[in-house]
Amino acid sequence: MSEAKAAVRVGVYICHCGHNIGAVVDCKAVADYAANLPSVTIARDYKYMCSDPGQEMIQQDIKEFQLDRVVVASCSPLLHEHTFREALAHGGLNAFYLQMVNIREHDSWVHTDKDAATEKAKDLVRAAVRRVVLHKPLERRQVGINPNVLVVGGGIAGIHAALTLANAGKKVILVEREPTIGGHMAKFDKTFPTMDCAACILTPKMSQVRNHRNITLWTLSEVTKVDGYMGNYKVTVKHWPRYILEDACIGCQECIDACVFKEGKTEDTFNEGLAKRKPIYIPFPQAVPQTVVIDPAACIQLKTGRCKKTCVEACGERKAIRFDMQETEQVVDVGSIIIATGYKTFDAARMPDLGYGIYPNVYTALEIERLVNASGPTAGEVVLRDGSKPQSVGIIHCVGSRDARTNPHCSRVCCMYSLKLAHLIKEHTGAEVFNFYIDMRTPGKGFEEFYQKLLHEGVHMIRGKVAEVTDWALDPTEEGKLVLRVEDTLAGFVRRIPVDMVVLSTGLEPQEDASDVRRLFNISCSPGGFFLERHPKLAPVSTFSDGVFLAGCCQGPKDIPDTVAQAGAAAAEALALIDANVHEMEPNTAFIVQDECSGCKTCVPMCPYSAISFKEDLKVAYINEALCKGCGTCVAACPSGTIKQNLFEDEEIYEEIKGVLNYA
Ligand SMILES: Cc1cc2nc3c(=O)[nH]c(=O)nc-3n(C[C@H](O)[C@H](O)[C@H](O)COP(=O)(O)OP(=O)(O)OC[C@H]3O[C@@H](n4cnc5c(N)ncnc54)[C@H](O)[C@@H]3O)c2cc1C
Repeated sequence: MSEAKAAVRVGVYICHCGHNIGAVVDCKAVADYAANLPSVTIARDYKYMCSDPGQEMIQQDIKEFQLDRVVVASCSPLLHEHTFREALAHGGLNAFYLQMVNIREHDSWVHTDKDAATEKAKDLVRAAVRRVVLHKPLERRQVGINPNVLVVGGGIAGIHAALTLANAGKKVILVEREPTIGGHMAKFDKTFPTMDCAACILTPKMSQVRNHRNITLWTLSEVTKVDGYMGNYKVTVKHWPRYILEDACIGCQECIDACVFKEGKTEDTFNEGLAKRKPIYIPFPQAVPQTVVIDPAACIQLKTGRCKKTCVEACGERKAIRFDMQETEQVVDVGSIIIATGYKTFDAARMPDLGYGIYPNVYTALEIERLVNASGPTAGEVVLRDGSKPQSVGIIHCVGSRDARTNPHCSRVCCMYSLKLAHLIKEHTGAEVFNFYIDMRTPGKGFEEFYQKLLHEGVHMIRGKVAEVTDWALDPTEEGKLVLRVEDTLAGFVRRIPVDMVVLSTGLEPQEDASDVRRLFNISCSPGGFFLERHPKLAPVSTFSDGVFLAGCCQGPKDIPDTVAQAGAAAAEALALIDANVHEMEPNTAFIVQDECSGCKTCVPMCPYSAISFKEDLKVAYINEALCKGCGTCVAACPSGTIKQNLFEDEEIYEEIKGVLNYA
C-alpha cells in the first residue's frame, strides 16, 4: 500500500443489528480482526449502530482519533447509507468518506454456519477498508424546484390530488385523455359499504376542479414526451380536437338535438355499450367540462364533409362548433408529476366458459353499475335484454382475478362491489340473488358488517368456483335459463343453479397502455403490470424517478377510500418537495474526462435516462449530471474507459476485489 494510503486513518464499526447479525456473526471477533488491518485506527462493535448512541460513537471517534475514513458493517446501504453519511457529516467528515458493508442480507441472513459467516464478514470488511482509503470527497449539488405540478389522469385519484395541491396554493395542470374527468367512479350509482350516492360525492369535486383558479384542466389530452429531472420537468402534452370551442359552448345541447342522426348510432362507451349515442354528445349529464364533443369517427361532416350541419345552425351566434380544429401540442414546465391513470377491467370474453358475449343475459359488473344507475340507459331499471325483470341472478366473483390462467392477484374490490350489486339488484328487482365466491374478502372498515347485512337480506352465498355457464336445460326448471355449474365446496357436491341473469365480477388490470406510460415517465412496473412504488412500506407513493409519484389504481387495485388516501399522500409528497424549494442531488454520477473522449458516441444511445448528449462543436460526449442516475451503463460501454463514475472508479473497485481475495 502506498504511503499516501497508509497515512489515512480508518474507523471500522460492526453492527449486531440485535440478533439479526449478532446471532450468526461473531461481531466482536470481526472488530478485533479489523483493528489490526493496515490503515485502521479504531474498530468497534455495537448492538445497534444506526441508533443515536451508535452514531454519536462514530462522531466522537472521528474527532478523538482524527479519523478521515469510516467503514460501517451492518445492513443494506439502501436502509442506512444515508443515516451514516449524515453521521459523518455531523462529525465533520465529508459524507462520502464512508463505505458500508452489508453483513446482514449478504451474510448473517443467508448463512447458518457461525464460523464461516464470521470469516466472510472479515473478508468483506477487509475489502471495504482497502476501498474506502481511495474514496474522494464529493459534494451534493442543489437544484431549484419548479412549484407547478402535473397530474396525469382525472379519476378520483387525480381529482383529489389536484384539489389538495390547488387548495394549498400550488398551480396544477390536470391532464385527462377522455372528454370528461371522473374516471370509473362517475359510472357508479352507489358506493360500498356506506351506499352513499357516488355522484353526490364526486360531482362537486369535479366542478371544483373546473372552477379552481389554481387548476388548469386539459381533457382530450395526453402526455407524449417528458424531459428534464426532478424539480425541472419539461412535459409535452398533445390535445386532441373537441371540435367545439370550450369557452363558447354553454352546454345547452341544442346541437345534439339538431344532429341529423335522430337516433344514436354509435356505441355509448360511458354506458358500457348498453346504449347508443349521437356523433355529437356530452358523455353524461354531470360531465366536466360541461361541453359538447364531436366523435370524428362517427360525424358525417368530419368523415365526408357532406352534412347539412344542422348542429352549426342550432349553435347560432355562439359559433362554438369548429370542424377545422386540429390536434395541437404544448410544452409545460413542472417540478413534480403525479401519475393517476387508474385501471381497466378484465375482458370477460377471455373466459368463454362463463358465457360473456355468447349469452346476451351474461353481463359484466360495470354494465350492471350502469343498469342500476338512475342516469343510466334504463333509468335505473335492472332488466334483461328483452326488457323483462330477472327473477334470479347469479353473481360470479373473481373473474380474471386469483386465477393462474389470467391474473394471480386479488383485485381487492370485487367481493365488496359484488355484495353491493347483490343488494342493489335485490332492491331494484326483488330477485333471488346467488353470489359465487372463492373466499369472501371483507377486511375494510364496515365491510364485514355490510356482508352480514347482505346475509340477513337473504342473498345466497355459495362457496365455489363456477366452472361454466350454459343454456343447456337438463330438466324443465332449467328451461330458458342460464345454468351455472359449480362445485359447492362447503356442501361438498356439484350443483346446477338456473338463473335469468349472470353478472361477472371482473378484476382490475393495468391500463392497456401502462407500459408506454411507464416508459414515458421512466418508472417501473410490478410483475402484474401495475406501476411500481419505490418501497412498498417506506415509500408507497414514490417511484424510482425522483419527483414522480403514484396515486390510485395505477399502482394496484384498491377501493375509493384507499385511492383518496393515496392521492392525498402523493400530493403531500409533491408539497414537501415544493416547500423544500431545492433538492440535493446525489453525486454518484458518471462523468467524462473530456480530453480523453474519442467522440465515438457509443454511450449516447446506451443511457436509459437520456442523460448523455453529444457536443458537435467539441466532438465529445457530455453527461447532464442532473439526469444521470449513476446506473453505470455508459461507464461499462465506453470503449476507451473515458467515462468514470463517482464512488465507482476502477481503482476503488479493483482495490475492493483485491481486498476480498486478500491479494497484496
Ligand atoms: C364494477 C366496480 C365497482 C366498484 N365499486 C366501488 C365502490 O362501490 N366503492 C369503492 O370504494 N370502490 C369501488 N370500485 C373501485 C373504484 O373504481 C376505484 O377505487 C377508483 O375508481 C380508482 O380511481 P382512480 O382514479 O385510481 O382510477 P380511474 O377511475 O380508472 O381513473 C383513471 C383516470 O385516468 C385517465 N387516464 C388513463 N390513462 C391516461 C393517460 N395516459 N393520460 C391521461 N389520462 C389518463 C382515465 O381516462 C381515467 O379518467 C369499483 C370498481 C369496479 C370495477
